[in-house]
Amino acid sequence: MYLSTSAAKRPMMTTTSLSLTGESWSTSSTLHFLNPFQLRQQQQRGIRSVGKTQGRVMILGSGWGGFKLLRDMDKNAYQVVAVSPRNHFLFTPLLASTSVGTLEFRCITEPVRGYTRNVEYHQAWCDNVDFEQSKVDCTLNLSAVPATHITDPATHTLQTVTNNQKNHLSLNYDHLIIAVGSYSNTFNIPGVKEHAFFLKEVSDARKIRSRVLECFERAEMSRSEEEKNGLLHFAVVGGGPTGVEFSSELHDFIREDCSRLFPGLMNHVTLAVYDVAPTILANFDKSLSEYCMTKFKRSGIEVRTGTAVERVEDGKLVLKNGKQIPFGCLVWSTGLTENPMTASLENRVMKSKSKRILTDPYLRVLDNEGKVIPNVYAVGDCATIKDHELPQTAQVANQQAIYLRKALNKLAKQPEKSFTDVTAPFSFKNLGSMAYIGNWEAVVDMTKINENAKESGTLAWVFWRSSYLTMSVSMRNKMIIPMYWFLTWVFGRDVSSFQEYDRRKRLMNAEREG
Ligand code: FAD
Ligand code: MG
Repeated sequence: MYLSTSAAKRPMMTTTSLSLTGESWSTSSTLHFLNPFQLRQQQQRGIRSVGKTQGRVMILGSGWGGFKLLRDMDKNAYQVVAVSPRNHFLFTPLLASTSVGTLEFRCITEPVRGYTRNVEYHQAWCDNVDFEQSKVDCTLNLSAVPATHITDPATHTLQTVTNNQKNHLSLNYDHLIIAVGSYSNTFNIPGVKEHAFFLKEVSDARKIRSRVLECFERAEMSRSEEEKNGLLHFAVVGGGPTGVEFSSELHDFIREDCSRLFPGLMNHVTLAVYDVAPTILANFDKSLSEYCMTKFKRSGIEVRTGTAVERVEDGKLVLKNGKQIPFGCLVWSTGLTENPMTASLENRVMKSKSKRILTDPYLRVLDNEGKVIPNVYAVGDCATIKDHELPQTAQVANQQAIYLRKALNKLAKQPEKSFTDVTAPFSFKNLGSMAYIGNWEAVVDMTKINENAKESGTLAWVFWRSSYLTMSVSMRNKMIIPMYWFLTWVFGRDVSSFQEYDRRKRLMNAEREG
């Protein structure tokens, strides 16, 4: 038998196999002595690889769902394993602010390794899940590391191990939580991937910030009025909260800082929001959406609703009505689509029409016949509950993470019970939505809680800022966010941009030529 009292004295090993040219390398092994009671618990749950008493909880993703979970899981009961290509959590509600320098990038990130040493973290993409074998296949996201060298025991010579050879990783789990988020939807419109910016990650915000400044620098040098107009047309496609907040931040930046730095160019600057829908902020209360449209128009942001994009070319937007609009910077934010990782689960898990993984009300993933896959859960943007479509917001991911953390931690204390015994089904409490609309104003919509609970203007802006400050995770960020707000207010935004300027390449070119 697998479990006996004598077996209890045997040290248990957790191994991670890393494949290098076909061989299996054991990278980590931890010794744990378990008492017979703990071992019986594991047998009851069907736990295979034994780490802590309740086995390995693998969390895929370090976003709103994943990061919350990996911080709050009971590390004494579970061995928490995190797999995410991104080694930090990103506080997305303030990402638009960093794309123009109202805040600095590091104000809105939290390092995965910063919180606890009790988490086994792998900086990797999960490519595939094998539900039968309870294992995941991953590709490391560590491209910047040089080749390494290891002595071959047979020949005693130093062998070079290239990055490609050590890039794959296979990990096993006892509980799996899928929280890989979603991708920006381009609706297969040609040219979007090539010529537009998305706003999902710090790297996106950084690229946008550089591009906006470069457009001004180039326009400053141009002699053609037409070229200046094109370079200084900033287009935002998508009038949802992200598109609106980005436009507002960009408008503030142009009005408060660029006008001071490039006064001669202000007549050439235009900023427009394009959307196929008849209105922007369509999910907000009607009066708030109208307030935002009026405010945008008054401050010179063009709102081009009912406009469909046909394709995007280098520096040119082509609309369905045939109109061609040259732009300097285009930000695309028209909605979400599935992550390639969840796409790889096609035909093995049940999916919604919007291609999200379907779960039961307990957030347990359903297979393609609608049966619960044991010990596999999904939260956040990548998933939704069957027959109950949830919004793709941080609020949902956060509430789901809290729910799952509570349930799994409870289960660890009452191992004789089943998951559904320790918790009620998940229910989402919609706490409302907010959006910054520029010039110290915001809209706050809490009509889902109380019909009359809505606010627009400066008071809403105070509420918007204080809520996000309260929600930002670490004490460090709670301190530096207001500091940057203050610095921006007093001194303006920092317009240094750190785009690639490769001295090494110039040096090599000079050597070649000289
Ligand atoms: P994410 O937070 O996107 O995290 C996904 C994680 O999975 C990331 O760490 C990613 O690196 C990782 N990952 C991706 N692929 C893999 C893979 N193959 N293997 C392993 N890991 C993988 N919501 C609100 O409620 N309020 C707001 O104000 C708000 N503002 C927003 C502003 C912007 C600019 C954006 C982009 C979104 C905003 N949202 C807001 C939405 C909110 O950010 C998302 O709904 C939320 O991030 C979803 O959480 P998640 O954990 O599902 O995914
Ligand atoms: Mg997440």
